Amino acid sequence: MAVAYHSTRSSDHTVLAKQAILQGIAPDGGLYIQDSIGEKPLDLAKVCSQGFKATAFDVLSALLDDYSAEELTRCIEGAYGSQWDTQAITPVSAIGEDWLLELFHGPTSAFKDVALQMLPRLMSVAREDADVASAVDAEGTAGVVATSGKSIMIVTATSGDTGKAALEGFKDVPGMGITVFYPEGKVSDIQRLQMVTQKGSNVAVCAVKGNFDDAQNAAKAIFANKELAHELAGKGTVLSSANSINIGRLAPQVTYYFDAYAQLVAKGAIAQGQKVTFCVPTGNFGDVLAGYFAKEMGLPVERLIVASNSNKVLTDFLETGIYDRRRAFEKTISPSMDILVSSNLERLLYLASGKDTELVSYLMNQLVTKGIYTVPAQVMDTIRETFDAGFATDAQTRETIRSTWENCRVLIDPHTAVAKHVLDRVSRQAGNVRVCLSTASPYKFSSDVLAALGHSTAGLNDFACMHTLAEITGTNPPIQLSSLNDNVIIHTDVREKEQLASYVSEACGRIFAC
Ligand SMILES: *Cc1c(COP(=O)(O)O)cnc(C)c1O
Repeated sequence: MAVAYHSTRSSDHTVLAKQAILQGIAPDGGLYIQDSIGEKPLDLAKVCSQGFKATAFDVLSALLDDYSAEELTRCIEGAYGSQWDTQAITPVSAIGEDWLLELFHGPTSAFKDVALQMLPRLMSVAREDADVASAVDAEGTAGVVATSGKSIMIVTATSGDTGKAALEGFKDVPGMGITVFYPEGKVSDIQRLQMVTQKGSNVAVCAVKGNFDDAQNAAKAIFANKELAHELAGKGTVLSSANSINIGRLAPQVTYYFDAYAQLVAKGAIAQGQKVTFCVPTGNFGDVLAGYFAKEMGLPVERLIVASNSNKVLTDFLETGIYDRRRAFEKTISPSMDILVSSNLERLLYLASGKDTELVSYLMNQLVTKGIYTVPAQVMDTIRETFDAGFATDAQTRETIRSTWENCRVLIDPHTAVAKHVLDRVSRQAGNVRVCLSTASPYKFSSDVLAALGHSTAGLNDFACMHTLAEITGTNPPIQLSSLNDNVIIHTDVREKEQLASYVSEACGRIFAC
């Protein structure tokens, strides 16, 4: 029987993985989860004898088992091909006495590519499945509804990085389109160029007059806009999002935990069966939760360490059992981790509470109404059996970038440096093998990295910083970043925030030719 997914807030109604992927979020606002993760452990000996793509197949077959072998193979071949600059996809390298899991070799030089190269393909396949689509339609209440044969337009607002990763993932995927809004003048040169030079026959990119919150609120309003939904439905188009809570984004991330383990065995760093600790730079809790899934699926994991920047809600939570978002939002040099509500934590609360949907509903309601909740002690004990946490300030992050370069001759980005700092604070047990997840190329943050190395960045734009960084370290920037300046600018649209719904309508008309 196929794996049944249901909401973390109620198990009354179940759906298959394909439907969960098309819907993204459950109708009651909960996240889709399944109760049989541990029942299909992966064969570790097999994992250790094969490469990334074969392991991706085993992971996805276990988690998304209503996809056929042919469908999964098609998705995997498309997602992990020549758009990656190494066949290893996520190689492991040495960093001092520890290991670095490099997740930034994809088309946008950041770890979201691992999932966002796969999700659009999983959605596209699900959308072709008539049974799934009519089941989604019958649901009716999800707000986001996708139907067989209908075209799906992804709409997303970005503060910089996710938009580009989503554009690369959805470009030219059959039956799909993507519209990205970014705040005009509020993203870096590189981030802007990455988006406005985006190729693909099904992409729309638009600057919004206002800040990120304006763009995001306008995008949210688009999903609530019944008139627009009705108009688009008449033309055979539905709207959807590519949110990081989608199970189709989470599942592909489990692969690199298993694959990293296989690489460590192949290097002779561990014996098969030996436990490994992973330290993960964390924002929305998707990456580290995938590590927990891997553990549940049989990976020998010692500890999972949750690393935060000065938005350290999760560090405080692990220590006290109290999740308290009522605090000032700090803008840091690791912006993809500037998050106060880590959505995917809801899935861990469900699993660690012994699948208590009532408790999860209660806690999530407390979060919305009070901004704070307290988790029962025995649930925290279960969480602490696997998880540790720590944080790094910007000053500590800069110091770690500098010391890692000086001591290990490895150049790391600010997000990775947060994790490295936290890992260095944890005392090493004899024989403990530790992996630090590296989530972005240092060249994506050239200016901050250059400054951390003690160089002046006064008067230098992003490209000059990239150039100087390469020169002084003798390393090479990824070609897709260094060549950005030479690319043709394709997207020049700018809109007021009141005009975004009509922009989406126009984009659908242009892209789906209706
Ligand atoms: C998104 C992101 C993270 C955080 O990952 P989560 O899954 O949200 O915890 C860390 N580093 C980089 C570079 C990212 O883009």
